[in-house]
Amino acid sequence: MSSTPKEFLESNLNSIRSTIEASCQKAGRAPCDVQILGVSKTVEPDIMEQAFDLGIKEFGENRVQEYLRKSDILHRDCCWHIIGRIQTNKVKYLDSRVKLIHSLDRMELAEALSERGSKINHRFPVLIQVNVAGEETKAGISPQGAKDFALRVSRLGNIDIKGLMTIAPYTETPEEVRYVFRSIKQLSVDIMRERVENINMEVLSMGMSNDFHIAVEEGATMVRIGSALFGERVY
Ligand SMILES: *Cc1c(COP(=O)(O)O)cnc(C)c1O
Repeated sequence: MSSTPKEFLESNLNSIRSTIEASCQKAGRAPCDVQILGVSKTVEPDIMEQAFDLGIKEFGENRVQEYLRKSDILHRDCCWHIIGRIQTNKVKYLDSRVKLIHSLDRMELAEALSERGSKINHRFPVLIQVNVAGEETKAGISPQGAKDFALRVSRLGNIDIKGLMTIAPYTETPEEVRYVFRSIKQLSVDIMRERVENINMEVLSMGMSNDFHIAVEEGATMVRIGSALFGERVY
């Protein structure tokens, strides 16, 4: 018997929630401290609306254009996050409808956001993307450079740093990338010690379908879940 899209989403969501609960139990954390961000790239709005009705109120898109298209047609009051690399020439499309930008990975982008923010009188909440494993194919600031980068960004206007984001290397055995999540957590503690007014480390955006159980054990406050919720993407 085949299930409806809603039943499919519901059963996926139940299993994601149980996994988060189990990881929290292991780590002595409260499950309500871990938010599920629905990664909706390539997912059509009608399916997103069903996920919304099941409790996923916030969605992450990796492309600005896709976010713009969907935010105009989605019939629900959801919150939007940008999680993918942002070209500087797309910053002009961003405004207060974006709740959080996860992918601040270079000074040029920070400067463009600051300029845009001052133009529209908005402070952009951002996460600094950190590339722990040093993978060349992935964006992000090196862990060694992250604190200096955060301090430089904090001197710009109209940007509030809310935490860190990372993408761990893909692996069949996620236990291997535990160190990635652990070092992001430690880095957030180090940066917090600087006590800078517009730097906060309340959000650790880490963990995807394949590895979120480990990320939650290591302190993730937001997990970015695509395929484990919506099914495998077909490009
Ligand atoms: C696609 C994507 C995800 C979700 O990936 P899944 O493995 O499908 O959960 C998370 N974060 C970023 C930045 C992505 O681009």
